[in-house]
Amino acid sequence: MNKQSIKDTSWSASRSADVYGIEHWGNDYFGLSDQGLVTAKTLTTQVPLMDIVKGMTERDLQMPVLLRIENILDAQIYRLNNAFSEAIAKLDYQSPYRGVYPIKVNQQAQVVEEIADFGARFQHGLEVGSKPEMIAALSTLTEPGSLIICNGYKDQEFVELGLQAVKLGFKCFFVIETPAELPIIIERSKQLNIEPLIGVRVKMTSKVSGHWNSTSGDRSVFGLSTSQLIQLVDRLKEAEMLHCLQLLHCHLGSQIPNIREIRSGVVEACRYYADLSAEGAALSHIDFGGGLAVDYTGARSNDSQSRNYTLEEYCEDIVDTLKNTLDEYDIEHPTIVTESGRATVAYSSVLLFNVLDVTKFEPIELPKVESDEHQLLQDMREVLTYLESQRVQECYNDAHFYRDEIRELFKRGQVDLRTRSAAENLFLEILQQINKTIELMERIPVDLEGLKESLADIYYGNFSLFQSLPDIWAIDQLFPIMPIHRLDEEPKRNAIIADITCDCDGKIDKFIGQHEVSNTLPLHEMKDNEEYYLGVFLVGAYQETLGDLHNLFGDTNVVSVRLNDDGSFDFVKEIHGDTISDVLSYVEYDPKDMYVAYRNTAERAVKEGRITARERQEILKTFYASMQGYTYYERDE
Ligand SMILES: *Cc1c(COP(=O)(O)O)cnc(C)c1O
Repeated sequence: MNKQSIKDTSWSASRSADVYGIEHWGNDYFGLSDQGLVTAKTLTTQVPLMDIVKGMTERDLQMPVLLRIENILDAQIYRLNNAFSEAIAKLDYQSPYRGVYPIKVNQQAQVVEEIADFGARFQHGLEVGSKPEMIAALSTLTEPGSLIICNGYKDQEFVELGLQAVKLGFKCFFVIETPAELPIIIERSKQLNIEPLIGVRVKMTSKVSGHWNSTSGDRSVFGLSTSQLIQLVDRLKEAEMLHCLQLLHCHLGSQIPNIREIRSGVVEACRYYADLSAEGAALSHIDFGGGLAVDYTGARSNDSQSRNYTLEEYCEDIVDTLKNTLDEYDIEHPTIVTESGRATVAYSSVLLFNVLDVTKFEPIELPKVESDEHQLLQDMREVLTYLESQRVQECYNDAHFYRDEIRELFKRGQVDLRTRSAAENLFLEILQQINKTIELMERIPVDLEGLKESLADIYYGNFSLFQSLPDIWAIDQLFPIMPIHRLDEEPKRNAIIADITCDCDGKIDKFIGQHEVSNTLPLHEMKDNEEYYLGVFLVGAYQETLGDLHNLFGDTNVVSVRLNDDGSFDFVKEIHGDTISDVLSYVEYDPKDMYVAYRNTAERAVKEGRITARERQEILKTFYASMQGYTYYERDE
């Protein structure tokens, strides 16, 4: 048979789309071409990720690479602002929407600059929680009138930076999170003679589900209680500054999966808004914080890794609830502020890596029948002859019994290594056959339920989970993972993924299945001399700076691309990942000293006649080049 006729025509890219659910979680940003390639999509064009990978290879940007697609970031900011504008127009709400991006969600300069740049047309502002983030915001925003929302503990210097920003024309709000901040703000603003814009964060009692539910409730570490709130009002009155209190802030948590919880949070916030207004505060802004969820699984459910609403429903629910509640009190509609981080940046980054190796749980070679074969091997062969659905449990038990007997005999020196190896191969063969048999069965014996997982391949990926996908390890986050090519071929293997750290936690064994979370991922058989590339999608939020230097694997290469309408693309930015010498200096080694130390060792070897001076140079050259190189597995050219 020639190659052509082997090609499987029963499979198609659309079947792969079902297997990996790309249309459910892709949010119209990712799709599949008929040629079986994952594409990044804009309204007018789509570009195969493999084309971008080819461009990276030509530029010597090795895997793993974090790919940022600027168009997607732009599109998310547009969608968010547009969805609020449409809801506001539709429901006849009387004030505008002003978004801010919370820097903590992805602080990388490229990302924040792109948001500020593209968001300028919507006066999209920034939310900051520390002085470094404040400095980043002040130097990135250019549009006067943009909001800067200052959360977190603010010292005198922080307050001064904010007051000066007000003078420059930014709407820079100090959100009071603790009573201790107020005296500093009052004192500094009087001193500098600048009227501050003050917001107050209230403690919400509306509870939300998901991972971040402790952000609300009585024990929340953030926000003022009602009695502290009253005290704040009185103190501001005393200082004749109650008119500076213009913003009400609440943040229910991140990744809120259930729209009902958002609605009930809005109602609670409105109560505070109405009564603070009645107390004389000149409120004009209401800020609902973050929480807009990303549907990582694509299930559209109220599961913690999903959401049971669309962006449009989110906006309409907020606007509608606000309008209805405040109209009862006859209060002017405030400017609506949200601090969506996750939903803004998650979609725009994809982690790409190649697969280095595969471990299979299959016999390497079935032993030939020998005339003087050990009885236990004969017994094992026998199992294969009575294997059928009625007797799977029995076969499973027998296989284990005989294999364990052989292992025991090996331990006592009564069978040799070759016999044991033959038994292990036969054992795996029996288990594989059992696995095939139970696939067709309706009721699987309990003992055998985990068999498929225990026989799954291990695909070794060239990345560090701890550096690039910390939330998988820390909070069992699910991200969509799939091959980015060969999707016109059936993925016939079942696998889990291991990273290249030598840590047993450095693995991925929970995947987004077609209907539920799955313990294995369908993948393609590896081909000789051809790289196999996988992508981890929706990783733009919270992954980059939470990562650590486990095993001293450093930052990956980062590439930002912009897709053009004609299907071409530009590499707009590239950042080479950490070198070995970089990561060593992060943990306080001095690369220069290290080189000198190694050179001394080499010189001693010359002196003592173990190597020649020329060999010394070769050895030092390798050492030096390695220090300048990438921390990940590098393929030889
Ligand atoms: C973390 C945080 C956000 C961002 O929340 P997302 O759910 O990622 O949008 C917004 N506001 C505050 C105060 C936060 O702490």
